[in-house]
Amino acid sequence: MSRIGVFTCHCGENIGATVDCAKVAECTRNVPGVVHSVDYKYMCSDPGQTMIKEAIKEHNLTGVVVAACSPRMHEPTFRNAVEEAGLNPYLCEMANLREHCSWVHEKVDATTDKAADLIRVMVEKVKHNTPLLPIRVPVTKRALVLGGGIAGIQAALDIANAGHKVVLVEKSPSIGGHMSQLSETFPTLDCSQCILTPRMVEAARHPNITLMTYAELEKLEGFIGNFKATIRKKARQLDEKLCTGCGMCITKCPQKKIPDEFNEGLGKRSAIYVPFPQAVPNKPVIDKDNCTFYKSGKCKVCEKMCPTGAIRFDQQDELVTLDVGAIVLATGFKVMRTDKFPEYGYGKYADVIDGLQFERLASASGPTLGAMKRPSDGKAPETIVFVACSGSRDRAKGVPYCSKICCMYTAKHAMLYKHKMHHGKAYVFYMDIRSGGKDYDEFVRRAIEEDDVKYIRGRVSRIYEEDGQLIVKGADTLLGGEPVEIKADMVVLATAVQAQDGSEELAQKLHVSYDPYHFFAESHPKLKPVETNTAGIYLAGACQAPRDIPETVAQASGAAAKVACLFSRDELTREPVVAVVNRLPAPTFSYCVGCFLCQSACPYQAIEAEEIRGRDGTLIKTLAKVNAGLCQGCGTCVSTCRTKAIDIQGFSNEQIFAELMTL
Ligand SMILES: Cc1cc2nc3c(=O)[nH]c(=O)nc-3n(C[C@H](O)[C@H](O)[C@H](O)COP(=O)(O)OP(=O)(O)OC[C@H]3O[C@@H](n4cnc5c(N)ncnc54)[C@H](O)[C@@H]3O)c2cc1C
Ligand code: SF4
Ligand code: SF4
Repeated sequence: MSRIGVFTCHCGENIGATVDCAKVAECTRNVPGVVHSVDYKYMCSDPGQTMIKEAIKEHNLTGVVVAACSPRMHEPTFRNAVEEAGLNPYLCEMANLREHCSWVHEKVDATTDKAADLIRVMVEKVKHNTPLLPIRVPVTKRALVLGGGIAGIQAALDIANAGHKVVLVEKSPSIGGHMSQLSETFPTLDCSQCILTPRMVEAARHPNITLMTYAELEKLEGFIGNFKATIRKKARQLDEKLCTGCGMCITKCPQKKIPDEFNEGLGKRSAIYVPFPQAVPNKPVIDKDNCTFYKSGKCKVCEKMCPTGAIRFDQQDELVTLDVGAIVLATGFKVMRTDKFPEYGYGKYADVIDGLQFERLASASGPTLGAMKRPSDGKAPETIVFVACSGSRDRAKGVPYCSKICCMYTAKHAMLYKHKMHHGKAYVFYMDIRSGGKDYDEFVRRAIEEDDVKYIRGRVSRIYEEDGQLIVKGADTLLGGEPVEIKADMVVLATAVQAQDGSEELAQKLHVSYDPYHFFAESHPKLKPVETNTAGIYLAGACQAPRDIPETVAQASGAAAKVACLFSRDELTREPVVAVVNRLPAPTFSYCVGCFLCQSACPYQAIEAEEIRGRDGTLIKTLAKVNAGLCQGCGTCVSTCRTKAIDIQGFSNEQIFAELMTL
């Protein structure tokens, strides 16, 4: 015999202004099975919760309905209160009188009637509820960090320093990411390599961190606390244990004219190479597409020159499987290539370059050793034009969003140029300056006021070459659109920041969502900025949105803190709202006929096969079985099952029909 208590909350004026809560409480007393019904101004408050606990004991309640706000907000609050009074928490349900009633209707009479109906429905559900136990799953205390830029390095170091094992997987031959390509960094102008390389080395040497460079995620299975990741370690064609990084192979390799990715095509590298001198690990890799041996079957000079016999031409990719409890996604960004801008002449004129190429020109480790030399003829550029928002905030040609870092790095580029060539002229075309950040606006002002960089508010319409100079045509919108023409020796385009290539496939492998521009999506833009919608997978850095280094580092530490929090527990508890396949006594065993339609329908691969065998081992029946760890309770299998063998715990067909029949 059910003894249900109903507790109607005014939620201040949120519900109380449009629902007559006292009347609702009164008429609810007549609902069959209800033995206690009251209303109160704030049911979630301490006195409100005490009222529920005392009523459970006093009236010997078998179930509770709290008619209040959204269960998303306070279901855990009321379930905890119910549990503290000795009742199973899953015998407590909420009727949403706020979002489903008071906030969407105006007339008090109608709203009050609807509130009473919603309560009757939930009373009927609670009558059919059964006590449930939370699901317990163990936690593997090892993290996987995907991407070895500053975000991945920071997250890995923080997790490792909290005492947990980390595997840091980087797809290129070295960790470091874009930060390793930068010359100096805004807003302090400190040398990027000088602040980054100690962290790269620290990550490589940390006893809790295993580095897997030149490697990528192949497959991911499992769930929070219990992921199984398959990593493809691409063949470097080298025995890393034997290689000492002496560089003999690189020096002697005859193939030396390959465009160098690290220097953004402004330098050349050999077929066997390390991406940059400070690379971690400092072990070469053979670029099979450009190696003479792989192309013609002849050469092997590197093998002959290697003093330790480390070269392995027959080495194959290796697949490594890892058990991990949490994943940090830190795969960064790419910059837009400007082939969409024929009017700017990128790709046509050697001296129209992008921001990353400028970083390499300005860097002491770059192809010109930091000297300002333009790519076409090595001449020092007397005049440079910087074009901000090349592709950003431009729905027609590029991307509609602001790339956030370009205003700042353009000011930095203009300053770096002026510091190297005091008499040179630097012009910046901009739409408006977005420099929100600590000391950022001051930094831009310094460029204008101390370094005499000329800012022109307006867009560049065309760039073309005339007599060995680039003619930059634009308009100054602060002077009413007056045409501007500048003769420049070099042009630097601040191209848009975009999601990495392959983000979509990676998101699908990980079951995380992405935004329309393929940046990975956070679970909640304000309250869960480092979580994804898949429990146990966190975000760090520019893979989520354009970010500068300070923001990237802060977010990486945030993601690491979430991982450390997760690893502070040996077991996780999960809501028991999962699917179950019904079981019956022999000889039927279950309504399940083993068609496995549910298996192909389940988006989380949660349906497994279970064999029923006789005493002599003969197979009697194969049934579907739900892996409660993987199941997300979406209910897809329930609607697929033709024999009605599957139900969702807490939302069985019987419960849902009971609710409907009440209306
Ligand atoms: C021209 C320019 C100048 C800049 N100047 C400054 C500055 O002065 N100050 C400042 O604060 N910020 C600056 N920035 C921004 C800065 O570069 C970024 O904030 C920072 O690099 C973001 O770090 P990240 O680790 O998130 O991404 P990234 O640096 O992009 O690193 C991501 C890493 O993940 C790896 N990866 C990608 N996909 C995979 C995969 N599937 N599996 C494994 N690994 C993968 C990549 O190879 C890379 O190593 C500048 C950016 C640009 C373009
Ligand atoms: S075999 Fe390939 S990598 Fe080795 S030296 Fe010859 S071209 Fe260079
Ligand atoms: S409820 Fe959803 S996640 Fe769970 S087994 Fe069924 S289909 Fe899969």
